[in-house]
Parts: sequence; C-alpha cells; structure tokens
Amino acid sequence: MGRRKRRELKIVRKTIPEIFQCPKCGVKAVSVEITKEKQEGSPLAVVKCGNCGLTYTLVMKPLMKKVDAYNKFVDAFYSGELS
Ligand SMILES: [Zn+2]
Repeated sequence: MGRRKRRELKIVRKTIPEIFQCPKCGVKAVSVEITKEKQEGSPLAVVKCGNCGLTYTLVMKPLMKKVDAYNKFVDAFYSGELS
C-alpha cells in the first residue's frame, strides 16, 4: 500500500533580495553592482534601475551591504540629488 507523503519538506532558503524597487519608476528592477574601481581604498558601487536607467554611484564603506547602497540611492533620489 503506497501511502503518499502529503507534504514534502522543502527547505526555504531565505536569500537577501538583490533586486530592489526603483523610487522613480516604481519597478522592481534596481540592481547594485560592486565595481572593481576604487575610491580612497573602498570599492565603488553602481546602483542602477534596469527600467528607467536611473543610476547612482557611491563608495562602499566597510560593512556596507548592497541594501545599504540601495538605501543611499533612495535617499539621494528623494533629496533631489538624482533626477
Ligand atoms: Zn526606475
């Protein structure tokens, strides 16, 4: 008698999303890329929306994560640094 397992346990790996929502166009198409370029010893990150092309370059400080770079991008947008 084959008793079927009702459920298979799936391991859900929580990964930090790498694609963020754009503050300008609202599309989830913003990616953060760490470049090989450096400024004052810290790598530069390019935050870019794949939909509207809004781009922001910033210096990745130690311990900064991609999401922090994205937050700076959003701040820069709302403070009028980007347009
Ligand atoms: Zn956009």
